[in-house]
Amino acid sequence: MKENNCIFCKIADGEIPSATIYEDEEFRAFLDLNPASRGHALIVPKEHFANLFEMDEEHLKKLIVLAQRIGKHMKEKLGCDGLNLVQNNGEAAGQTVFHFHLHLIPRYKDDGVGITWKPGSLTPEDKEELTALLSQDLPRE
Ligand code: AMP
Ligand code: ZN
Repeated sequence: MKENNCIFCKIADGEIPSATIYEDEEFRAFLDLNPASRGHALIVPKEHFANLFEMDEEHLKKLIVLAQRIGKHMKEKLGCDGLNLVQNNGEAAGQTVFHFHLHLIPRYKDDGVGITWKPGSLTPEDKEELTALLSQDLPRE
């Protein structure tokens, strides 16, 4: 299903041109217009899902396998030293385009790309409360 006025739906089905590096029946991977590093690419499903929460498990399984394949290819072709997979869900998490996308950000030694946060400290109270809260009722399937 496509969503009207969704730029990534239009890129996914080729209506808007993109610097495509990979395409199959279900996914397209293309270069990010504002790359964090050399080779920064996005993988999008052709079907419209706003975010991770909406995506079905079949797509998710294929997506991670594809990410590994493209990541290995990037290492070989770009000679990158590492790779960040980044995937933002919701405005609060920095999502700006509301069609699921996975960032593949090749990393190079001392590239200065900042994908980081200020580490806090897990207090004993939080540890107890959050472990109890989050381990309870978590679906297995
Ligand atoms: P996010 O902040 O996770 O929603 O990331 C959206 C990403 O999409 C940003 O890195 C943008 O640079 C990228 N982007 C937006 N429009 C386009 C476009 N037309 N072609 C390629 N990348 C795009
Ligand atoms: Zn879309």
